[in-house]
Amino acid sequence: MSVWDDVVGQPDAVAVLERAATDPAAMTHAWLLTGPPGSGRSVAARAFAAALQCTGPEGDAPGAPRGPSGGGCGRCRACTTTLAGTHPDLTVVATDKVVITIDEVRDLITTASRTPSTGRFRVIVVEDADRMAERTTNVLLKAIEEPPPHTVWVLCAPSAQDVLPTIRSRCRGVVLRVPPAGDVADLLVRRDGVEPDVALAAARAAQSHVGLARRLARDPDARRRRDATLDVARRIRGVGDAVLAAGELVDVAKAEAVAAAAERDAVERAELMRGLGVQEGDTLPPRLRSQVKQLEDDQKRRATRHQRDVLDRAMVDLLSLYRDVLVVQLGAEVELVNTQHAAAVRTLAADSTPEQTVRRMDAIGTARERLEGNVAPLLALEAMTVALRPQG
Ligand SMILES: [Zn+2]
Repeated sequence: MSVWDDVVGQPDAVAVLERAATDPAAMTHAWLLTGPPGSGRSVAARAFAAALQCTGPEGDAPGAPRGPSGGGCGRCRACTTTLAGTHPDLTVVATDKVVITIDEVRDLITTASRTPSTGRFRVIVVEDADRMAERTTNVLLKAIEEPPPHTVWVLCAPSAQDVLPTIRSRCRGVVLRVPPAGDVADLLVRRDGVEPDVALAAARAAQSHVGLARRLARDPDARRRRDATLDVARRIRGVGDAVLAAGELVDVAKAEAVAAAAERDAVERAELMRGLGVQEGDTLPPRLRSQVKQLEDDQKRRATRHQRDVLDRAMVDLLSLYRDVLVVQLGAEVELVNTQHAAAVRTLAADSTPEQTVRRMDAIGTARERLEGNVAPLLALEAMTVALRPQG
């Protein structure tokens, strides 16, 4: 076993990172890991951090010197604690928030400057380096330009274009690809004990998004929601159905965002109250109200973002269905994404032309862009579902 086991379908990236962790001549102190959502950026970043800290099992002996890297054995204390996120010299900024603030980055820089306590390096992983305002990025820039020799910055973003050119040019880039569905399925079987055929169907349906594939394989509700989304394509016969379907898609996304947020919001609020020294049920002193308001605003923004993410995901699912329709219409020799919806795909393919399919895919693409541009979700989706209805 090794720390790279869960980094699926990325042999090239793993080779570069593994070499850097073991060969000082190949080491760089600022990295930019890029790859589409679900390609495993944060998994790769943690694995790299573990490989950097790895001492090998012999390093666990009391008083053992900080020797050369064990290469990410996956068994030593340094490896296991880094992967678990509890290694004292690892800092991970995982953004549930919409933006990483300038204060957070200043704190990170202070942390980065400290000598590692037990590890070989102080590793700072920023999972969404693209969620920073330009001013914040400039503060970070100074830190990664001349990092202390014991510090390693690992920034992650969907693509190199998502970070400022100044950051890009000072980092060594590693690009993750979309892993093959077979590799994702293997991981689900090996790590999560999923049945092989369920794993493969889920990996295909999730278009190799590892986290999503896992959820589809293990959560029947997630599968039902996805099926309901795809069913929209079949159900829309006229404008009335289209408007209804758009409303349903928005409602489902809202419900999912609320369900995902409820527990976490309550925990955060309780923590804040404890931190402020306010007892459960007490009236909030006026001087503390702004801090609670700040938390509530952050939570609201996060819910809105989550809802948009869920909607975008639904549209990617719909897009995959029409992609399959086009595959059938053109007689292309490639696998369907939605093997379990093959019958619906064939019906849609028989009832329309490739031109119509392309136009529908364009409508979905437009709706995604409009959502990204903060158009009201219902408006963007109605325009889309109306364009999906059968033409004459
Ligand atoms: Zn190790």
